Amino acid sequence: MIYFSTNKSSIPVSIKKATLEGLAPDGGLYIPSEIPRFSPEEITLLEGASFNNIAFAIAKKFIDGSVPPDQLSDIIESCYTFDTPIVQLDQNTFVEELFCGPTLAFKDYGARFLARLTGYFAAEEEKLITVLVATSGDTGSAVAYGFQGIANTRVVLLYPSGKVSRLQEQQLTTAGSNVHALEVEGDFDDCQRMVKQAFVDPDLNKSLTLTSANSINISRLIPQSFYYAWATMQLKERFGLHDPLFSVPSGNYGNLTAGVLAKRMGFPIGHFIAASNANDSVTRYIEEGRYEPRPTITTLSTAMDVGNPSNFARLRYFYHNDHDSMAKDITGMSVSDEETIATIRSVHERFDYVMDPHTAVAYRALERFRGNESNAEKAGIALSTAHPVKFLDAIESALGKKIAIPPNLTELMEKKKSATLISSEYRELASFLNRLDE
Ligand SMILES: *Cc1c(COP(=O)(O)O)cnc(C)c1O
Repeated sequence: MIYFSTNKSSIPVSIKKATLEGLAPDGGLYIPSEIPRFSPEEITLLEGASFNNIAFAIAKKFIDGSVPPDQLSDIIESCYTFDTPIVQLDQNTFVEELFCGPTLAFKDYGARFLARLTGYFAAEEEKLITVLVATSGDTGSAVAYGFQGIANTRVVLLYPSGKVSRLQEQQLTTAGSNVHALEVEGDFDDCQRMVKQAFVDPDLNKSLTLTSANSINISRLIPQSFYYAWATMQLKERFGLHDPLFSVPSGNYGNLTAGVLAKRMGFPIGHFIAASNANDSVTRYIEEGRYEPRPTITTLSTAMDVGNPSNFARLRYFYHNDHDSMAKDITGMSVSDEETIATIRSVHERFDYVMDPHTAVAYRALERFRGNESNAEKAGIALSTAHPVKFLDAIESALGKKIAIPPNLTELMEKKKSATLISSEYRELASFLNRLDE
């Protein structure tokens, strides 16, 4: 399998190069030259398989020849040491809980796989890879815990001082070992600017092999297809339901793009709902056919506050830039903060189930979609991308009651923060990086 750029002016590369580079040299996003197919017989053979066995079957097709099967299987086993529960709310409504990993959000699925694959390829190249990330919260914590203890890699993450929640800060600053946190006296844009400058600094790149771990990396995308495949198999085996709808709470559209990948591979998926908050550039595109990115608006579902989503280029590419064929597979729905709060309340009342604001956006969009009579009977899965305790304030004020904190979180909150405070001047980052090897 080879990978080429959505901009088409870079030479095609192996999965190794695509993983270690992240972004293609022409500024495009890497995509597989063809999407591997599972025949109906192959899918039948996967019935009864564990999550990890399904993950392995998919990964093998994408990584064909670059990682031997035994090693690939070890990588998968060490990535997904947690469950992926599918919870039934009523006869044909389900929530797939993607928040059981170490950082309590679905980004663990992509970050853990990327980390292990990067470690494997770095060892093969006998290199030490330095992963540099600017984060406003969730991505950084998944990357920190994903790369924690992975040989041949180390992580330097930059976060804006005072602009992340206390839980996020604990997740960013306690991974230890090969993970270094830099607390920047500035905002997220400063962090991003500094990281970008490091990537083009010739002196620095002479001594260090830098890579990014953001959501455009193809090796973060591939593993996100695993849980779509798993859900279709589980719905069939446990409930006798076929061709489910997936409602996907979307920000940068990596999650939804991975779903489209799973459908193209042949897994039986009925339809997608792209669920956005007030940042609705993509959902409006799907409804109206015009793409007009707008400045980002702050909402309750903060991880989806993206005005110009980076994975949209890949999504469009998969539909050959054809709006109508995208709209056949995907319906766009935007959900307001008021509706989000009302949904958290009504779901709690009806099902005694607590969902976080991102999940509530997906659930509400699913409800609205099935409000149309011709869709009412369809089986639907809302993807739950974060554990409600990650958004304690919003949930507790919506429900007017305290919710229980899981024990591993209490432990995390007690860990000692370890971060280096720097100003937002680039030379402070450069000098930190230069001193890493001392
Ligand atoms: C990142 C994130 C999203 C958005 O996912 P995309 O792949 O960027 O569309 C949704 N919910 C949560 C909790 C997230 O952390």
